[in-house]
Amino acid sequence: MLISDVVGFAARRAPEVPALEFEGATWTFGELHAGARGLAHGLAEIARPGDRVAVLTENNPEYVLAYYGVPLAGMVLLPVNYRLARREVADLLADATPTVLITEAKYLDLARHAAAEVPSIRTIVTVDDVAGTTPLSALLDSRPDVEPERPDEDAPAWLLYTSGTTGRAKGAVLTHRNVVAGAVNAVLSWPRALERRPVSLVPWPLCHIAGYNVLVAHLAAETVVLLRRYSTEGFLDAVPRHRVTATTVAPTMLAMLLRHPALEDCDTTSITRIGYGSAPMPGATLREAMTRFPNAGFRAGFGMTELAGNALAHGPEGHRAAADGHPELLASAGTPMLLSAARVVDDHGAECGPDEVGELEIRGDQVFSGYWNRPEATAEAFRDGWFRTGDLARCDREGRFAIVDRRKDMILTGGENVYSREVEDVLHQHAAVSAAAVVGAPDELWGERVVAVIEPAGPEHPALEEIREFCATRLAGYKCPRQVLVVAELPRSASGKVLKRELRERFAGPLA
Ligand code: ATP
Ligand code: MG
Repeated sequence: MLISDVVGFAARRAPEVPALEFEGATWTFGELHAGARGLAHGLAEIARPGDRVAVLTENNPEYVLAYYGVPLAGMVLLPVNYRLARREVADLLADATPTVLITEAKYLDLARHAAAEVPSIRTIVTVDDVAGTTPLSALLDSRPDVEPERPDEDAPAWLLYTSGTTGRAKGAVLTHRNVVAGAVNAVLSWPRALERRPVSLVPWPLCHIAGYNVLVAHLAAETVVLLRRYSTEGFLDAVPRHRVTATTVAPTMLAMLLRHPALEDCDTTSITRIGYGSAPMPGATLREAMTRFPNAGFRAGFGMTELAGNALAHGPEGHRAAADGHPELLASAGTPMLLSAARVVDDHGAECGPDEVGELEIRGDQVFSGYWNRPEATAEAFRDGWFRTGDLARCDREGRFAIVDRRKDMILTGGENVYSREVEDVLHQHAAVSAAAVVGAPDELWGERVVAVIEPAGPEHPALEEIREFCATRLAGYKCPRQVLVVAELPRSASGKVLKRELRERFAGPLA
């Protein structure tokens, strides 16, 4: 199956059903499918199979066409995050060497400056038809009713860069097979049959792997409501307007929603499914959300760019756990999805026993084929056919997985392992803390010491002693922060993840 078959399948069965709602305009499945074919034929006139086609725009319907149409042409879709700095865009393009760059008026300057350094780029296309560039509309016009020659299912389809949370972003090469497996996994993990008119709100930037929620919804013949850029106001406006039944969010988005004054008057009763992932979910946020959205089922998903989506998720057992008064189970990651196998292993690759912490490894059709231009990183990422996620996890006797921490975020202090996430979970329960990140700083005596960096909830800054006491009643002494720093804002990546490497660089010195 090809990525474009997702929309092709729905177009054959329900061509008139709305596939996409965007800023007042509606695209049916039939129109999206024709657009994807048109784009594939148009691209074939300016580029060759295997070429990378970069997209540097905010979310828009043309981006969705590119999701389907670029791989249908046998080319490789290269999403570029529009929030990157000029230098970062140029470096990414120099690494991926696309021949075509699709952009829009707002980012044309950025695109041209970066393209000037990347000789592989031969054509600049604009979705809003800027003079002096190739208008996308011209590419779409060619033969929308003819199916292009089908590429191989194992051909590279998307070149998607990781979020760059732990270091320089790596290009993950995803094939048709990988992307389709990721979407099939997600559709089958959540029963949808009871919704009469399913409408899925996708608040993510399409340059992030979570943009695959567009495919997931289309595979289930659902209507997608797409936001140009995420904003809490935009989200709250879209839910009642489109009677949204399902959405997926990052923990930060959910926290922002719950804090927004307009939520109180917003009719959110249509929402029956809320999925979340991409970063650890603070238990306090989840509990509050479950109270605020009583009609909704909640479900965590653990995923990665390299996995073309999620590999672990809650099934109905997650809801039962919540109903039985164990909402904490929903904060973890769930069980392996239909097309995914998962295991937890020690440093030697031997499988861990129940509840023992080790590295999470994944197998399955969704697992990417390797990192672009980085054979060493690719070789390190696999062991005995398993993909090493770099995340620490444990699996209980019932086979439920919980993500413990990123391997790189674990702190080794006085010979003890401290999982930063466990300490953060406690800090998030403190009323004066809006967000917290825990990192290790080099320490002569302890090897590393536990440092808490806190974004305060109000004007009052919690004191070290108070934080230590708060933690001491909930955590072993060696896990309690030895240093507490208050910052106006934690450094975050484009997808809202806390950049701990920046905190480590900033606080790497000796105790002040
Ligand atoms: P980079 O690989 O460039 O450092 P990144 O790992 O943040 O960036 P992504 O592929 O977007 O890039 O994110 C995958 C990571 O996100 C996982 O390895 C995991 O650490 C984290 N993550 C995803 N889902 C969850 C979840 N449900 N709970 C906790 N962490 C999660
Ligand atoms: Mg990663």
